[in-house]
Amino acid sequence: MDLILGGSLNGAAAQVMYGLEGRRKDVPMILPVVAGLKEIVRKGRDFPWPRPDECPQCHGPRLWGHGVVCAIFDGVAGHVLLRRFRCPDCGCVVRLRPEGYFKRFQASVSTIRSRIVYRLANGRWMSGMSRSRQWYWLNNLFKRVVAHQGLDWKDRLIRCFDDFVEKGRNPVSRLR
Ligand SMILES: [Zn+2]
Repeated sequence: MDLILGGSLNGAAAQVMYGLEGRRKDVPMILPVVAGLKEIVRKGRDFPWPRPDECPQCHGPRLWGHGVVCAIFDGVAGHVLLRRFRCPDCGCVVRLRPEGYFKRFQASVSTIRSRIVYRLANGRWMSGMSRSRQWYWLNNLFKRVVAHQGLDWKDRLIRCFDDFVEKGRNPVSRLR
């Protein structure tokens, strides 16, 4: 573990080591990286993950390496290793992910978009992927659009999808 400095296990480091991070710290902040998934997979452990300039939560200037986590993506056999960093000032954990993916989604943004476009244009689901997955995306998009913009926008789902993405938000995650 590369986060324990000074040879002693202080309280914060112990918390991280044993997974006892506080509530706020349990939810990693997930930042996109300007690199495609293919490149990340091809280079594996040699991929040069960029270290963020500052903590996205407290803007502290230091982020320490905090190991890797495994993630699964469509079209990639096995796990993909994603780099993590940790801010020693506020304790938040930052996880990096490939460009073009929503956090915690295995399909790329463009795949999700094209599936929804197809369904709206043709009235049926594109083959090659479970309908329930595609339905999940469309259903969440519909609910979000109606919640944010009102029913008048239900026929402009793709435009809303693009607006969400442009603002860095996920239009197909479950509305809480
Ligand atoms: Zn911080």
